[in-house]
Amino acid sequence: TPHGLSSRARAEIDLHALRANVATLRARTGGAALMAVVKSDGYGHGALPCAKAALEAGATWVATATPEEALALRAQGVEAPLMCWLWTPGGPWREGVEAGLDMSVSGMWALAEVTAAAREAGRPARIQLKADTGLGRNGCQPADWTELVAAARAAEAEGTVRITGVWSHFARADEPGHPSVQRQLDTFGDMLAHAEREGVDPEVRHIANSPATLTLPASHYDLVRTGIAMYGISPSPEVGTHQELGLRPVMTLSANVALVKGVPAGHGVSYGHTYVTAEETTLALIPVGYADGIPRHASGRGPVLIGGERHTIAGRVAMDQFVVDLGSRKIQEGAEAVLFGPGDHGEPTAEDWARAADTIAYEIVTRIGKRVPRVHL
Ligand code: PLP
Repeated sequence: TPHGLSSRARAEIDLHALRANVATLRARTGGAALMAVVKSDGYGHGALPCAKAALEAGATWVATATPEEALALRAQGVEAPLMCWLWTPGGPWREGVEAGLDMSVSGMWALAEVTAAAREAGRPARIQLKADTGLGRNGCQPADWTELVAAARAAEAEGTVRITGVWSHFARADEPGHPSVQRQLDTFGDMLAHAEREGVDPEVRHIANSPATLTLPASHYDLVRTGIAMYGISPSPEVGTHQELGLRPVMTLSANVALVKGVPAGHGVSYGHTYVTAEETTLALIPVGYADGIPRHASGRGPVLIGGERHTIAGRVAMDQFVVDLGSRKIQEGAEAVLFGPGDHGEPTAEDWARAADTIAYEIVTRIGKRVPRVHL
């Protein structure tokens, strides 16, 4: 097959497109550095190849959510500054210190664990203080910031940590102009100013994710943390389509038709018979299902391009397969079915699938399963 081992299905990852997206984003951010967010296996695109491609294209930082993801990238030779932000008590702080990771600290418990690890390792930990400016998720509340900053400064004076960053994250940057975005930016400015008055001298101050990078230059500070836009997907319809943003989708998901067969009128299709053929027709079996990340919620709605024409899933998505009704079309087994891609050849996009499954395109690409081989181009 043209895809080597993957005669069933594959996700082609166009690293040329990823590099182009990084260049496009950098052109919009002026002097700010670009941090390539490759958490969750690079939003399903492969963390290591995406990190490398982004660095080649001008990104200078890499980020993951968990320390395990970051440590794996270090072990695989990623030498760039590497940040991770989702720590839990008992996490691999010592390994993080030794790997030179930038470790996010949102509260006193984390500061206590990271300083203990740094003492054991005999070298300072690189920490980035995270402010909760309004997301209500991770990060230090403004009311607790004075205490955290003072304790972090004391640890810095003692030589156990170096405060390399002060940072935060937006709740609603994908709704450009929403008043909460400016409120968060103002709160960030206040919390940062307090830290700097207390002597914090960070290498990087940052708050912008992809939507803020694309819509709010005042949020760029020293660095922007881009995930979804780097993968060529718009953060939200309000921010624009990927074409309007000059981005190119990186992942193309396709499968090969496994079986084509005629069935009579009135034939139920897939579990629950939620689709019943209206007349004598031809069905095609597409050999990917919810175990591969095809949302079951897109049953009866997900789009697919076969032989140049769009079809909609007939009936339910099963664990490993779904069916389309070809009507009178003549399609052969082995024909390619494109579930989503850049969209320039009539194929649906991940955004189309997000609409069909009442979710966001982030979830569509990130959930493509391990059983689908990634083919990096
Ligand atoms: N920063 C943090 C803390 C995140 O959790 C994420 C991902 O959700 C990002 C940045 C990247 O966001 P986006 O993919 O919208 O660029």
